[in-house]
Amino acid sequence: MTAAPPAGAPDVPEADDHLRRLPDGTVKQINPFTGTEVWTVPRRGNRPLTGAPAPHLRLDPADAGRHCAFCSGNLLQTPPEKLRRVRDDDGTWRDLRGVTASHLGDTIAEFRVIPNLFEIVSLDYWRHNHGFALPETELERRRAYLADPAGREHVLRLIGLHRPADLLTGGDEAIIADSLMGGFHDVIVARRHHVDGARCDDELASTSTLSVVEHEQFVDVTLQAMRDLFAANPSIRNVVAFQNWLRPAGASFDHLHKQLVGIDEFGRWRNSEVERLRADPQLFTRFGIEFAQSRDLVVATTEHAVAFAGFGHRYPTLEVWSRRGDADPWNLQPQELADMSALLHACHEVSGPSVPCNEEWHYRPPTLDLPMPLRICLKWRISTPAGFEGGSRIYVNTIDPWGVRDRARAAIAQAAEAGRIAPQIRVA
Ligand SMILES: [Zn+2]
Repeated sequence: MTAAPPAGAPDVPEADDHLRRLPDGTVKQINPFTGTEVWTVPRRGNRPLTGAPAPHLRLDPADAGRHCAFCSGNLLQTPPEKLRRVRDDDGTWRDLRGVTASHLGDTIAEFRVIPNLFEIVSLDYWRHNHGFALPETELERRRAYLADPAGREHVLRLIGLHRPADLLTGGDEAIIADSLMGGFHDVIVARRHHVDGARCDDELASTSTLSVVEHEQFVDVTLQAMRDLFAANPSIRNVVAFQNWLRPAGASFDHLHKQLVGIDEFGRWRNSEVERLRADPQLFTRFGIEFAQSRDLVVATTEHAVAFAGFGHRYPTLEVWSRRGDADPWNLQPQELADMSALLHACHEVSGPSVPCNEEWHYRPPTLDLPMPLRICLKWRISTPAGFEGGSRIYVNTIDPWGVRDRARAAIAQAAEAGRIAPQIRVA
């Protein structure tokens, strides 16, 4: 005698290795792209997503703009910026490059692209392993930044705090050659630390608190910065794009930002995905949107993108897929980009500002000749893999895909009713 599946869960054939529900309700999953093996055991999924409540302390108005190194009042605590996106009074957005230290306060940066002070891969890695040399135009930009007295003071102060002392004795050419003045690990920082009018420190400006328009610009400027990295260094084969929200998800600051890291290989994980794709050119069709539809996992759609509950992930995951299978992400048409952004923004409504989460962006790197759609996974970091996972390589995820789906449909429908998400979204 088999137990009935929970209400709303479709009858999944047991022969399907990738996503199957056992008679007791356990859901066994194997990620078709990564091979990651995951079990969800029943009766663990209805717990609230958040753990202990965050501290709730009154904000001191004197600290405005200075809560962390990414804040708008601390622009000199991060390296010289590469690019900023500003919004004019008439609502148009534009990019400024090469703003010197003396002019940082002339405009309000809605988003800034800055080098990561603690880069994973330094410029020397590219020099010594790939013979990389900074082009003359880039050297000129760096020299000009140092020629501005405010720029020199900015850079020397950062070196004093974060670099070995011999960099200061090496002269200007050593300084401009350092990753601190620009490498291939960038951070894209949003303007606000707290929401406008916040009174307490837990009112953080998260992805879901951005407006629909702001979020679209955040996605667009991230793609712009990604394209810049590929263009700046031909040895970059892959730019890893991600967002860590809150410390349990790996963020250094509770200030909204994304990161881009250029690397010289796909990595084992992507390589295995490429192998699977070569063996099965229909991989993304069979296990992407169509599969989600056939298993009733879709949570919301737009004309050009689909959001669904993912399976075979270590953490409960929502996935947003572009319906186009072949585009470089920065070549999406404006409406395709708007639709992707709208669904990603809506998916952040489900977990809200207080749940630690990661975004992982997956796309076809320009050096790959196979079609691969842009897709973004949003993972809720609500559990910690432990000894069982280490010993078995089977991950225990606390909410099964249909549980994620139900929470997501309800939250997105509520956000739609409140007018907080893009109007083109249709809740499944
Ligand atoms: Zn901040």
